[in-house]
Amino acid sequence: MKRTKIIATVWPSTNSREKLEQLYKAWVNIIRFNFSHANYEESGRLVWLIKELNSEWKTNLSLLLDTKWPEIRTGDLDEKITFTQWDTFNIYTDNSLLQKWGLFCDYKFLSEDIADDWIIVIDSGLLSVKVLKKNKWYVEVKALNSAEIGSRRHINLPWVKLKLPGITNKDKEDILWGIKNDFSFIAASFIRSAKNVQEIRKLLDDNWWTHVEINSKIENQEGFDNLKEIVKASDWLMVARWDLWVEVPIQKLALYQKKIIQQCKKKGKFVIVATHMLETMIDNPFPTRAESSDLFNTILQKPDCIMLSWETAIGSFPIECVEIMTTITQEAEKNIEYEHESFSTKWFSERDFEKKLLIKSGIFIGEELDAAALIILTKTWKLAKFASAFRPEIKTYAFTPNNSTVKLCNAYFGIDSILLEKWDSENYNKTLEKAIKLLVNKWLLNKKNKIIAINDIQKKDVEIPVMEIINVWDFV
Ligand code: PGA
Ligand code: MN
Repeated sequence: MKRTKIIATVWPSTNSREKLEQLYKAWVNIIRFNFSHANYEESGRLVWLIKELNSEWKTNLSLLLDTKWPEIRTGDLDEKITFTQWDTFNIYTDNSLLQKWGLFCDYKFLSEDIADDWIIVIDSGLLSVKVLKKNKWYVEVKALNSAEIGSRRHINLPWVKLKLPGITNKDKEDILWGIKNDFSFIAASFIRSAKNVQEIRKLLDDNWWTHVEINSKIENQEGFDNLKEIVKASDWLMVARWDLWVEVPIQKLALYQKKIIQQCKKKGKFVIVATHMLETMIDNPFPTRAESSDLFNTILQKPDCIMLSWETAIGSFPIECVEIMTTITQEAEKNIEYEHESFSTKWFSERDFEKKLLIKSGIFIGEELDAAALIILTKTWKLAKFASAFRPEIKTYAFTPNNSTVKLCNAYFGIDSILLEKWDSENYNKTLEKAIKLLVNKWLLNKKNKIIAINDIQKKDVEIPVMEIINVWDFV
């Protein structure tokens, strides 16, 4: 049993049918395509392989598309430049002014938005510089450490309120490509406000793609400052530890992770912890003591998903890395405090609120009765979502007639989703019986088990939610 879901980034280390199947067997639930690097040709081939494996029932993998976003960068250099601590040089926003000793920055508002004494971070922390003075075309800076800088390196502007959109034209194209290819999740980079999220929501709505969930990546101070409104506008959040580490004071990173997870749990939203989960396993068959400990403690904070980036994308031990991640996760889950904290229902309909209560009781009753499983029948993913938000300890199966629901549930903590073909909405008893028999046939339940079942039933013209306590032997 593993309740926390694992996301693995693919390509080029994981680029074959065999590797994808091995990732799934090691217990990956979702495959991430990172469009900062991915191209349509290779991604298309991998998506096709995943769909083929899914349709042969060899895997049950969902697809996540991570957007590139504008990403601020330096320009091309003829050769690398070595900066020494306390060197002063210029950063130009007009490439034609660039001198041999200096860097270009493709954020055209740099001079306008930055102030004296502010910090600019180049190459993800490799070089930090302080602003001395600025004019319209460049800022003069002082290197705070020594470093060698090559072409097209990342630039982070930690204190700047960036005048950049939520998504670029490239992101739009990529998202539309993802929609066409049945992706379930869009991870949106550098989300700084609810407005950024709404831009993406509109793109999805305009394309009638309402069952794709938006994951807002919190990567800087501005995103963290606007956490509440972003949580409200999004389905998911991601603690994007790579860029957060660059953008916020290093001593705050662990605290921000905790706060982002807490805020999501309070509002019944979903959350991923990403980056540097098992980073040293890119080159080594084992993680460090600190990594194994960080992962264990992260699981105790109860996020829905944990994510691997370079480890599975370019690493030498992609499968071993997932295996170790699974082992540590399972051990940590034995030590989770399953308190089933409630979550906000402010924007729920009355019926949804009632369903939430039913799910909550189902979990408590199931645990009290030591039931083998909680079985949820759900056409949309709502009931499964509520169950997951309560962080169930009890084994929870969500049966659904919709493949898109199965794929969404793959990301939800504690939910095993199963496609139930020949779903009969008119006859709930028959549908539930099919679900129970399916679990018995797969040896996941036996005749002696007790289960809790929650579902809508048809009464006159309306659907009402019900809960039943069932002895499996009555059904098989
Ligand atoms: P990235 O996002 O890998 O796309 O940069 C994750 C992070 O910043 O941690
Ligand atoms: Mn990032």
